[in-house]
Amino acid sequence: MTLKFCQGTCCHQYCTQDRLRGTKNNKTFQTRRRTSFYYGQGNFCSLNCQNDWFETFGNKSIDHFGRLTEPKHLREENAWVKDYNWDNGYDSRSYVYLNKITKEQRPLTEEQFNDNNYTLNER
Ligand SMILES: [Zn+2]
Repeated sequence: MTLKFCQGTCCHQYCTQDRLRGTKNNKTFQTRRRTSFYYGQGNFCSLNCQNDWFETFGNKSIDHFGRLTEPKHLREENAWVKDYNWDNGYDSRSYVYLNKITKEQRPLTEEQFNDNNYTLNER
């Protein structure tokens, strides 16, 4: 298995025993290496490291990928969300598409509910 490095900009500055590597007179605190990480799409060993990265690169990243300069709008045409109808109790809940603006509900099959490509929203 290949080991990945935590992408946290300060990971090596957190002085924990598992980061202390090297031989007797040549020890250093090093960036964590693991086969997988839980945070930030598998790139960070901790939320601290994820936050450190964002502190360093957040503004650059947002400017690179596009900074919002006006509000986004949830409108009737794209306000459909998959939900459950609990009206008949937990055991007989049913799948529905719920429009967050109009509150309209439309029945969904379980297959449609689980299909990530199925949508009533305009794209
Ligand atoms: Zn880290």
